[in-house]
Amino acid sequence: MIDSHCHLDYCEPPAAELVGRARAAGVTRLATVGTDGERIRHSLAAAEDHDEVVAIVGRHPHETAGFDELALEEIEHAAAHPRARAIGETGLDYYRDHAPRDDQRRAFELQLELAARAGLPVVIHSRAAEDDTFAILREHAASVPVVVMHCFSAPDRLDECVERGYMCSFAGNVTYPKATDLQEAARRVPGELLLVETDSPYLSPQPVRGKPNEPANVVHTARFVADLRGEPYEELERAVETNFERVFGP
Ligand SMILES: [Zn+2]
Repeated sequence: MIDSHCHLDYCEPPAAELVGRARAAGVTRLATVGTDGERIRHSLAAAEDHDEVVAIVGRHPHETAGFDELALEEIEHAAAHPRARAIGETGLDYYRDHAPRDDQRRAFELQLELAARAGLPVVIHSRAAEDDTFAILREHAASVPVVVMHCFSAPDRLDECVERGYMCSFAGNVTYPKATDLQEAARRVPGELLLVETDSPYLSPQPVRGKPNEPANVVHTARFVADLRGEPYEELERAVETNFERVFGP
């Protein structure tokens, strides 16, 4: 199994322990996200230390106040590292509004352009901002090799995602009893666009809800999604592992 999106540095246990527990649960590859300067270095170090780990490097929308040329250069430099396999997470968060929206949009567009230049996939965070997120993607992501919708949360735009070939990565919240729209999206999304993730330490899936999340728990989400789709777990596992390798490399 794979975990397409986690934050090893936000989790309390050390990375080595989390990776070990993931491996014991059958999770053989995971992508950890560096959301600003210091955290980018942490994600690259984790990816250097563990064969199972690759890094996603970028500036989270929460951290984009005053985003400038220097911030972009820092990401561009990190993206040249052989263990950096995607730019992100970038996008828009109008729910928390931690950074001015103009700054969020500028950082988003610049990181999409960087992903295109670097030939890397981009990992998208979008919360309460779907109209602007999809408009900016339409305008600026045409030359980006792959778009990954992290913590997929736009079930009413699933058809648009499928049409554009965006990867849809489902997190633990798809397992919550009230998430029927998300569950319907996870049932309908074509297998070649499906990914699963933990977003650790957030969004623990239902069986471990209320506890801090960690990459090992992605198997709960994967099992739930396999059941939704009426597929054997092993079949879904093969599909998401193949997808992960296609997006993030071997
Ligand atoms: Zn994240």
